[in-house]
Amino acid sequence: MLTFVVERTDSRARLGRLELPHGTVSTPCFMPVGTQGSVKTLTPAEVGETGAEIIVCNTYHLYLRPGHKRVQAAGGLSKFIGWNRPILTDSGGFQVYSLAALTRVTDQGAEFQSHVDGSRHLFTPELVVGIQEALGSDIAMCLDECPPYPVSRPVAEAAAARTSLWAEGCTRARQPETNLFGIVQGATYADLRESSAKSLVALDLPGYAIGGLCLGEASDVTYDMVGRVTPLLPADRPRYLMGAGYPEDIIAAVRLGVDMFDCVLPTRNGRTGTAFTSAGRVVIRNSRYTDDLGALDPMCDCYTCRSFTRAYLRHLFVVGEALGPKLLTLHNVRFYQRLMQCIRAAIEQGAFEIWSSEFLDRYRSSAEPAGENRDR
Ligand SMILES: [Zn+2]
Repeated sequence: MLTFVVERTDSRARLGRLELPHGTVSTPCFMPVGTQGSVKTLTPAEVGETGAEIIVCNTYHLYLRPGHKRVQAAGGLSKFIGWNRPILTDSGGFQVYSLAALTRVTDQGAEFQSHVDGSRHLFTPELVVGIQEALGSDIAMCLDECPPYPVSRPVAEAAAARTSLWAEGCTRARQPETNLFGIVQGATYADLRESSAKSLVALDLPGYAIGGLCLGEASDVTYDMVGRVTPLLPADRPRYLMGAGYPEDIIAAVRLGVDMFDCVLPTRNGRTGTAFTSAGRVVIRNSRYTDDLGALDPMCDCYTCRSFTRAYLRHLFVVGEALGPKLLTLHNVRFYQRLMQCIRAAIEQGAFEIWSSEFLDRYRSSAEPAGENRDR
């Protein structure tokens, strides 16, 4: 079972320690995404060396391939993928809506056609919990209804109500040792967010997530919703904002009392040639780096920044070498872990506000525009 201790607070920001079956996680934490059981381009050893203590895998994908029973027979997901540390599995609710052909949603569950082979499936709250238990997840997520942005009020209202109903089903179905998190929905409607949070808190779950944000709405709307929900969640349970990935969004949410984050941004952007650095984003293919013999991020201690020049990294992307995406991913994942280490140190010292304004001044000073990658 899960143990969560808030060790220090700095205004609403929290420094915590989350103990899970496969290890301890310092919070606020960023969880690299290994959707299919792999953080793309990196070995589990490399992921661990960045400082990551927990990763996110996906129920929808692992259920379709290789199948949760096969993973269970292989000794569970941690053993199967060679990552002997905590794993959080997302329920697959988001993928059913975003990836699969959704055929029907009822109170019973979500019926969909696989994006792989068109086969038909029904995700019920009970099945989704059973899959995550078979995988051996340290943290399992309730099945949620997460309609694509923008969401009309009637659709948001129905989705939030169904998410609460499904959370009850998940709670009834779980084994006593399963660390099940509820997911607050309600799109961008403050009253729906509040009623969703209250109905989930009544289930007395070991942790709570805020879903259905960071999907394209304006940042101030995101922060407004998060700021309304966190005070309604129990102070002694971890809080997870799903899909928040820009450093400025993570910092804003930590300020509002969020403990856990995940996003495909560092890994996906790494593969496509955008690096997050202490001076903002760097699009490495840009011709200005052709003869740049400096490090990707002079303030970073990762293997990429210690060993290679921007000119060489650009060359790798220009000629299409597989090493380019790997080296940028390695840097980005380390950048996010250093970001979280700095956030934790600042909270520890009671200096979160000073640190964050200094970080953001430097980070924004030379930020380059990059493609939008704001999803899970
Ligand atoms: Zn680096």
